[in-house]
This record gives sequence, structure tokens and C-alpha cells, in this order.
Amino acid sequence: MTAQLIDGNRLSQTLRAEVARTTESLRAQGLQPGLAVLLVGEDPASQVYVRNKVKACEDVGFFSVLERLPANLSEADLLARVAALNHDPRIHGILVQLPLPPQINAQRVIESIAPEKDVDGFHVANAGALLTGLPGYWPCTPHGCMKMLESIGYNLRGKHAVVIGRSNIVGKPMALMLLQQNATVTICHSATANLRELTLQADVVVAAVGKRRVLTADMVKPGAVVIDVGMNRDEAGKLCGDVDFAGVSQVASYITPVPGGVGPMTITMLLVNTLASAQRTHS
Ligand code: NAP
Repeated sequence: MTAQLIDGNRLSQTLRAEVARTTESLRAQGLQPGLAVLLVGEDPASQVYVRNKVKACEDVGFFSVLERLPANLSEADLLARVAALNHDPRIHGILVQLPLPPQINAQRVIESIAPEKDVDGFHVANAGALLTGLPGYWPCTPHGCMKMLESIGYNLRGKHAVVIGRSNIVGKPMALMLLQQNATVTICHSATANLRELTLQADVVVAAVGKRRVLTADMVKPGAVVIDVGMNRDEAGKLCGDVDFAGVSQVASYITPVPGGVGPMTITMLLVNTLASAQRTHS
């Protein structure tokens, strides 16, 4: 079997065009969705991420603010910036780029964002909403993975989904979203003893670990759908995922590439959440 690609760039283009159309009509009514991105320090990867996020905002017609703050910023000063943005009516979404420098407690900062502006979906109020099935913002990366499954018309009901990774931003919310769609979900992590045994039973595998070749062809059931969240570098410095793409694409029915898979979908879902936040203030 040669797997079909789930193209995150193409799906993103379609969804971003929808966001742009809705934004245009909101702007005609005097409302421009606005996102504020706070970057503390000069981490090179973070700089690229925030640039991409701000550019994506501009492309769909949002108002966006990028605040570059010094690496030695105190936690109190960052909390004060967040508090000001919580009250800024031009801003519907606030994103604090992680990781933060060691003097700042990231969780305290996330909890200081007004939940209705927490478009990353990391605040406990939004995590709790996902857990209990209430409305709220879903974390962008797993939400993007769900959109990818939706784009191929995949019905999760009764399927076995295996999520590799249990972080608060990817693995755990991913598992909850799959559960909400009636999949039977197994969560694996670094202490899982029999990973291959479990992935071989899976109709859907989501790999969110951050290590190359966590999922190889011998670990995948023929016809399974494989979503690769991982972002790693190979020996040549090229971006690659957690999945052995060449091998697994011979076994799976659908697979997401890296790059061009989950990555662009993450930013797209940030736009979707920010738009939803702006629409909420309007309704
Ligand atoms: P993380 O917080 O480091 O979590 C990694 C998870 O993988 C942990 O739960 C860990 O288990 C588990 N793990 C580690 N080694 C394992 C192994 N050998 N077998 C099974 N599980 C193992 O990472 P994250 O933030 O969730 O991100 C995961 C990956 O996704 C990274 O490569 C990251 O760069 C990427 N990512 C991509 C996007 C995107 O937009 N494409 C967005 C976010 C993250 P323990 O809990 O037991 O330690």
C-alpha cells in the first residue's frame, strides 16, 4: 500500500481563505480580529514561529501586535503586559510564545491570560472545558490534527486511536478530542512497555514525541491513518517528524508529511480561534 498524503499546506490554504472571507465581512461591520503575540528573549526557533504567526494574521486581514520583550524581563512585568492586553478591546487573542526564560513561571503567565482570549487553549479553564465537553478554545496543534482527519472524511467512531506522547499541549488534548469523537483511545509515553504491540492494533496513530523514528513500518497496521506531529532534524539538518515516513507510507492508508503537515495547521487553528474570539465579542 502507498499511503495518500494529508496535505497540511493545502488544507490550511482552504481554511485560511475561509477565515479571510469572514474577516472581510466582520471588518465591513467595523470589527477587526486582533492577536497579540508576546515574545520574551531571542530564542531563534521562537523568533521564526512568531514571525510566521504574525504574517499569517496579516495575510487574513487581522490586526496583530508583536511585542518583543527582553530576555531578562521579570515575571511581574510580563504579567502586567498580559493584564493590559486582557483589557485591550482591539485584542481578541493573546499568545505568549513558549518557552519562557527561567525567571518566569510559564504556568502562572498562562493562567493570567483571560480565558476568553486564550486562543492557544492552554489555560486551565480551556483545558477543563475540553475535558468536560464544554465550549472553549482547543489547543491548536491537536485541533489541527482533528481537522486533518475530518478532511479525509474519517469516522472515528469505534476506531482504536493510539496517541504517542502525553504533553499538556499535544498528547493529552489530542486524546480527549479523539475520545469526544467516539474513538477508543490509548495514550502512550516514555514508560509504555509495549509500544509496538499497541500501535499495531491502532486504526489511527498520532505521534507527538519529538524523537525521530519513534514509529516505523513494522509498528503500523496495514491501512492505518498516521498523523505525525513531531518536529526534529535529521543528520543533514533537514526538518523531519517522529515517523519513518518512507517506510510507514508503504503500510498506512493516509499519512501527514513533515514539513507541510501538522505544522501549518497549528497556525491555521490559531487564526480560527482568534476569529471565533472576535466573533464572540460581537454577538
Ligand atoms: P513533550 O512535552 O516533550 O512531550 C513528549 C512526549 O513524548 C512525552 O509525553 C514523553 O513521555 C513522550 N515520549 C518520549 N519518548 C518516548 C518514547 N520513546 N516512546 C513513547 N513516548 C515517548 O513534547 P510536545 O510539546 O508534546 O511535542 C512533541 C513533538 O511535537 C515535538 O517534536 C514538538 O516539536 C512537536 N510539536 C509540533 C507542533 C507543530 O505545530 N507541528 C506543535 C507542538 C509540538 P513522558 O511524558 O513519559 O516524558
